[in-house]
Amino acid sequence: MIKVAYWPGCVARGFAPELHGAVAKVAPLLDIELVELDRANCCGAGVIAEHSQELADTLNARTFALAQRVEGAAGMMNICSTCQGAQSECRERLDASASYREHINKHLAPEGLSYRKDDEWWNKNLLWLVVEEIGLETLRSKVVRPLTGLKVAPFYGCYIVRPTRRLGFDRYPDRDKYLSMVIEALGAEPVEYAGSHKCCGFPIITMNRRTSLRQAGRHLADAIEAGADCLVTPCPLCHLNLDMQQPEAAKFVGHDLGVPVLHFPQLLGLALGLSPKELGMGKHVVSTREIAERVESLPVAAAA
Ligand code: SF4
Ligand code: SF4
Repeated sequence: MIKVAYWPGCVARGFAPELHGAVAKVAPLLDIELVELDRANCCGAGVIAEHSQELADTLNARTFALAQRVEGAAGMMNICSTCQGAQSECRERLDASASYREHINKHLAPEGLSYRKDDEWWNKNLLWLVVEEIGLETLRSKVVRPLTGLKVAPFYGCYIVRPTRRLGFDRYPDRDKYLSMVIEALGAEPVEYAGSHKCCGFPIITMNRRTSLRQAGRHLADAIEAGADCLVTPCPLCHLNLDMQQPEAAKFVGHDLGVPVLHFPQLLGLALGLSPKELGMGKHVVSTREIAERVESLPVAAAA
């Protein structure tokens, strides 16, 4: 059993509650104990930092401090590529200077909180945690419904793969391959296509809707052409552009789309024996019915 301080992020609780719900169902099956940080802050997604770096750093230092206080926790877990990126950036600045850390910690003092630099303490997206802390062998041993025949296109979300220096790739050089590795471990087939590690276009949707949707549509069309039955992403913001905006994106690429986009824990949950309904797959904009039926027709073995 691994205990973690769990930061769901605001999108997973607001726009994509099925993601938060799927994590709650999948965690016990993976022997993960979640201690939810319900008093933690929005990470700012890089937007607050554009106006005030100090405020963004303070908000994230506060979240880290709350996580570090969870007794027995191995580290902190997030479920959003964008949170991972924004939080890693703030942490890098906090860790780089003792005097800056001290300055930020003064803002946290009235609540009795303090962020402590600790090179062994980590903040990992669920994807990283599954591969690095649980391990693919253990994951394989927990699969009761191998997703045989399902072709799954990985979509990472740029903040979880760039910049590599800040995201720990020196220590974990395969982090940009983890989705494919997990897809394989679950018995499904990873699909290679051009857009897997590109930007989904979400950050520019309010400024340049056409370019944003064309970008999302291009990736979806590429995945379909490469034979994907569905996409999977560890980022709820990518999910917004790839699933919620998909009907609009189709208009910009002149290509029929209609490809389901799963949240990462939903794919895990299917292989761990949960039903599509339990995983909230009926809540997506693009229908998941076809793959739900296919998955439900696959044999389920008794849990080990
Ligand atoms: S990236 Fe977005 S979803 Fe994640 S916490 Fe930050 S603002 Fe919320
Ligand atoms: S792919 Fe899009 S939503 Fe996902 S992290 Fe990148 S810009 Fe954000």
